[in-house]
Amino acid sequence: MSARLRTPPLTDPDSAAFWEGCAAGVLLGQRCGDCGAWRWPPREHCPRCHAAAPVWERLAGTGRIAGLAVVHRPLDPTIADELPLAVAHIELDGTEAAIVLTSTLGTGDAGRARVGDAVAVGFLPLPDGAALPTFTLIDNPEE
Ligand SMILES: [Zn+2]
Repeated sequence: MSARLRTPPLTDPDSAAFWEGCAAGVLLGQRCGDCGAWRWPPREHCPRCHAAAPVWERLAGTGRIAGLAVVHRPLDPTIADELPLAVAHIELDGTEAAIVLTSTLGTGDAGRARVGDAVAVGFLPLPDGAALPTFTLIDNPEE
């Protein structure tokens, strides 16, 4: 994947634990420590009960494609070797569909991925030690 598609994440105090998990190869989800509601994006207060007691839980790292866009023509020539490129909304398993990540799919999956397909997370390492989550179709043995 080109350097253009490996932009380091912009972290803040609310999302720092998520990105630290990615760097360690673990997908984490935030939920309310009081009412248990899942929170996405991560934030200080619960949108349901307003408690400020977030907790982080390790997720299975699997999910389903809820939405999908496939880029075939490069708007930026620096990503021409990445096409076709799929960007998907992934509903993460175990979060009652409350956590939906926007992420890329693995090379080779763009032409055959469909809404509803099962995917699993992987992590793209960045030079600074961070990592970006990306997903591949579960039934794709070459990814
Ligand atoms: Zn709550």
